[in-house]
Amino acid sequence: METEAVSKGFTTLYGTEPEGVWQAPGRVNVIGEHTDYNDGFMLPIALPHAARVAAARRDDGLLRLHSVQSPDSVTEVVVADLAPGSVEGWAAYPAGVVWALREAGHQVAGADLYLDSDVPTGAGLSSSAALECAVATAYNDLHGLALTPRQLAVLAQRAENAFVGVPCGILDQLASSCCAEGAALFVDARSLDTRQVPLDLAAQGLVLLVIDTEVKHAHADGAYAERRAGCERSAELLGVPALRDVPYDGLDAALARLPEGELRSLTRHIVTEDARVERVIALLDAGDLRGIGPILTEGHASMRDDFAISCAETDLAVDTAVAAGALGARMTGGGFGGSVIVLAERADADRITAAVTDAFAARGWKTPRAFTAVPAAGARRLI
Ligand code: ADP
Ligand code: MG
Repeated sequence: METEAVSKGFTTLYGTEPEGVWQAPGRVNVIGEHTDYNDGFMLPIALPHAARVAAARRDDGLLRLHSVQSPDSVTEVVVADLAPGSVEGWAAYPAGVVWALREAGHQVAGADLYLDSDVPTGAGLSSSAALECAVATAYNDLHGLALTPRQLAVLAQRAENAFVGVPCGILDQLASSCCAEGAALFVDARSLDTRQVPLDLAAQGLVLLVIDTEVKHAHADGAYAERRAGCERSAELLGVPALRDVPYDGLDAALARLPEGELRSLTRHIVTEDARVERVIALLDAGDLRGIGPILTEGHASMRDDFAISCAETDLAVDTAVAAGALGARMTGGGFGGSVIVLAERADADRITAAVTDAFAARGWKTPRAFTAVPAAGARRLI
């Protein structure tokens, strides 16, 4: 069993028993892309894929880190010396969490951490937040901090923003911390209020496929920062705190007040995307799961045409899936590659996957990896 493998791996490496094993999942976002840093809405589910951490406190102030997925042996840092820029590479994610806890005024000791994750990295499935939230949850328990999942998510985001140096929104960490099994998580990024929205696809004969294109275009980070800056500029020009404050029925009037071109397109995506989240939630609350399909596909068109964050691979996967009978499909995650989600009748799933595989093969592209996503639980202690 995976939990025992992580625990045994810890013991083999460090020569002692861990005090426990914790895990935090990756996520896919059903709808609501790039809305988090616009104070808007989103609707992620947690994946069964997760990062697991076996951990034990140390009383000498040392933090030792090992990941099964990294060729490094053990990274060793002194907790008291942690500062942005002091840790390079993957170890900055878990070390950043310890730093963020300390910065928030919590008494945190050193620890031995042994990490093992089956969340694919860089696939738009949030392997980084899984790592952070697993460590945050472990520290919360080991030090009896009694922080809520939401507070842990905020600290994990702070770690990624200020310690690792990635300007991500709160979506990934909130999803990894706060999701519940069998439900999607409605998030209001301004208040950080969340609501569990039951999502029992199987009961209605449906599946949500995740198709990982295994493509990550190199300019993704810079493009993210540009989109973010464009959204902030638009809000400033419109005189609102964030684009979330532009009402859907006031969209045309708002667009007319912006210069023609990019700022209009960015604003149109965010405002229509917030509206799509609300439409999807209304349908889910009414039990009309099939009804959300076309809204997902509409969301993809908005990311492709207005926000300009899709790419040939994700567009092909979406178009092929829809042509093969999917109820709806869209790229999920930050963009420029990564994964596509497909809502489909269970009976159509294999045919749709085969159609996408064939379409990729016809272009000489690598076979994408497909799996079925069932809403899983958020971060928790395993043993
Ligand atoms: P995503 O979160 O969408 O998977 P990111 O670029 O945000 O993509 O995060 C990926 C990075 O997170 C990796 O490059 C690596 O530094 C780190 N990471 C994630 N999972 C692991 C792991 N199991 N072991 C080591 N590093 C990991
Ligand atoms: Mg990430």
